[in-house]
Amino acid sequence: MNATPISGTDVAKNIELGIKRKVDDLKYKYKAVPGLGVILVGDNPASKYYVATKEKVAARAGLLSFETLLSKDATFEEVAKVITEYNNDPKIHGILLQLPVPKHLDSDKLLDLIDPAKDADGLHPQNQGLLVTGKVGPRPCTPLGAMKLIDVAMMKQSKIGDAASANFLEGIDIANLPPVDLKGKRAVVVGRSILVGKPLALMLLERNATVTIAHSKTADLNGVCKEADILVAAVGVPELIGKDHVKPGAIVIDVGINRLDNGKLVGDVKYDEAAKVAGAITPVPGGVGPMTVIMLISNTVANFERNYERLS
Ligand code: NAD
Repeated sequence: MNATPISGTDVAKNIELGIKRKVDDLKYKYKAVPGLGVILVGDNPASKYYVATKEKVAARAGLLSFETLLSKDATFEEVAKVITEYNNDPKIHGILLQLPVPKHLDSDKLLDLIDPAKDADGLHPQNQGLLVTGKVGPRPCTPLGAMKLIDVAMMKQSKIGDAASANFLEGIDIANLPPVDLKGKRAVVVGRSILVGKPLALMLLERNATVTIAHSKTADLNGVCKEADILVAAVGVPELIGKDHVKPGAIVIDVGINRLDNGKLVGDVKYDEAAKVAGAITPVPGGVGPMTVIMLISNTVANFERNYERLS
């Protein structure tokens, strides 16, 4: 079998166009557009690149974006002051504190200071509670993006004839698709972080999948993974998941981003090997990464819509 590649770049572009249309409507209705406020502490090159990408996509989708750069020696109070200013700024509806922050700062305490209604990353404890209890609120961006890719893969699998079609996404507004019901599906998430593994497992559960979380202490990882109709790797170990972990025809979502010593970027999945067994698979780069960015923008727009009266 040769798996259908699921391009996060293409899906994110499709969602971006949908968001742009929505922002145009909001501008007409409210005479205002959603705003994203980004805080970057320090000069980590990867963080600078991520922030620049997020601001570029925000601008393309028609949002305003605001940025505060603080030195790597910034104190907790200095970062907290910017968060408070953004909390009180009616032009800002989504706040992103780019992680990781320098080690001397307590990122959990800083995230707690963000107004939950302006949380763009879905990482505020109150919003994590909304996820656990199945209530509406901003969800963490990476798992949200992974779920959209699962939706697309499921759609492709259910339309076998169109699966190979290059323009499969044309005319489909993915941002507004009803979520696919995963009843009867076995899902295995490898990784149990707060950022990815745990919230993703909850989102799969919310969609009626039967979910297993595997992690570094799991016995027989191969066997556990091989039961999955939907297998998500969020581990941070380069190419840990190979063909022996994949059930024939499974949907494989690779969240991992690992830079090898030779500079090559690889995921947590051995793509070429797994693609011979899987039914659908996401690449690295160009898979979950672009989805994380567009979900940040999507969360900001949703915050605007949900809270416009209060935040203005
Ligand atoms: P983390 O280090 O916080 O968590 C890793 C998890 O993997 C842990 O729960 C651990 O138990 C599990 N694990 C570690 N080694 C294992 C092994 N040998 N077998 C089974 N489980 C094992 O990492 P994270 O923040 O969840 O990120 C995971 C990966 O996803 C990283 O590569 C990270 O760079 C990437 N990531 C990508 C995006 C994106 O936008 N694509 C966003 C966030 C994280």
